[in-house]
Amino acid sequence: MNTTKRFIYNAIRWIDSEAESSSDSGLIKNNELSSTAKNQVNWQRIIPFFAVHLTCLFVFVVGWSPAAIIMCLVMFWLRMFAITAFYHRYFSHRSFKTNRFWQFVFAVIGASSAQRGPLWWASHHRKHHKYADTENDLHSPKNGFWWSHMGWFTREDAFKTDYSVIKDLAKFPELRFINRFDILVPFLLATAIFLFGKSLELYYPELGTTGWQMLIWGFFISTVALAHATFTINSLCHSWGNRRFETKDDSRNNGFLALLTLGEGWHNNHHRFAVSARQGFYWWEIDISYYLLKMMSWVGIVSDLHPVPKRILEEGRNNDAK
Ligand SMILES: [Zn+2]
Ligand SMILES: [Zn+2]
Repeated sequence: MNTTKRFIYNAIRWIDSEAESSSDSGLIKNNELSSTAKNQVNWQRIIPFFAVHLTCLFVFVVGWSPAAIIMCLVMFWLRMFAITAFYHRYFSHRSFKTNRFWQFVFAVIGASSAQRGPLWWASHHRKHHKYADTENDLHSPKNGFWWSHMGWFTREDAFKTDYSVIKDLAKFPELRFINRFDILVPFLLATAIFLFGKSLELYYPELGTTGWQMLIWGFFISTVALAHATFTINSLCHSWGNRRFETKDDSRNNGFLALLTLGEGWHNNHHRFAVSARQGFYWWEIDISYYLLKMMSWVGIVSDLHPVPKRILEEGRNNDAK
């Protein structure tokens, strides 16, 4: 593939992540890439990822206001919940049930995090559990901290969704749609935040905010902070913390990361029994996503929260006593 055609192909995939060019256009298909090419970092494909980071620097132009900070925090925690409770515990592990409407609502909120679509996320995560910290694990810190944090998904081979491991999710066309056009939902959220900020600027000037300021804080800074907080579970939670359970991988429990990620920091617990809806196994292990899921079960939004079996809780207590 020549340089221009390759760039065009990558640029198309910023919008249509599953675009495969036909051979008559001269572009090679994903599955025709050599194994060397598949392992290489695709710098062109990750230009949007860099752009989102660089755009945060406009904070020095737009300044700040309490309203903008509040929007940033709201967007961080709301989308963190959608990532932890739904992208992870629901789509990847099926640890509780919900109906098709709420499944879509939280898939959309998760997708607005710009961490790609729910099917891509779940397909990689299911493989992570299967191969954790072996040579087939795409994001083990054994291959370097930064690789596990934000390098692994820059590989050409990591961009595609492996539908063979998420057949249960792929049967929903609405999920396939937001997974394929994964830039759409983040773009709509960014636009909505800008328009909301613009309205505040016009009608409530005493708040001291602007459309551009809201956009930078509410979307860009919030999205970057959310991404790196999520990435710590792949990087730090396989290298920093305590191991209650002797799992085959290097997963760790880390209370600080559990607070930052609404419960995901109890990652060694999670690798011991991944299908549980809760990751803080005991009352002292704060797991806010679980508390929220529990409340949602009282009003019927979710149901059948998968519990931790008594034998696992016993095993953990015995290990703690040693
Ligand atoms: Zn893990
Ligand atoms: Zn998991």
